[in-house]
Amino acid sequence: MGIWDWQVDAKCKDLSLDESERLFFTQTKLSLRRAQAYCSSCPVQELCLNAALSFDSIFIWAGTSEKERRKLTGLKRPRNSYPPLVPVPTQEELRLQELAKNWTERDLEDALKLVGELLEAL
Ligand code: SF4
Repeated sequence: MGIWDWQVDAKCKDLSLDESERLFFTQTKLSLRRAQAYCSSCPVQELCLNAALSFDSIFIWAGTSEKERRKLTGLKRPRNSYPPLVPVPTQEELRLQELAKNWTERDLEDALKLVGELLEAL
């Protein structure tokens, strides 16, 4: 199991970019309360928080602000920006992972061949 696999079960995985922005990108008291309420019923909240604490995450994660997470890690101010050990998959990549769960090796080969043909046609 990869360290970001929990995102497949994230409550927020199907939010549009606009919805995600409204919910997680601003850190006012009101938006934090809204995000806390939203994230409190997410089945992977703890894993999300652990992931957010594992690198210099920005915005709201698991209903916590950057400031709250810095308190949890004991940091007085943001670290230099370290990328996560594994890039966070995009919504499209997560959907593809979900779709590909039941694919056979042959299905994957066919899909890769098709992508190759599409790229050549560009
Ligand atoms: S805890 Fe909140 S931010 Fe984290 S995955 Fe769940 S819904 Fe998304």
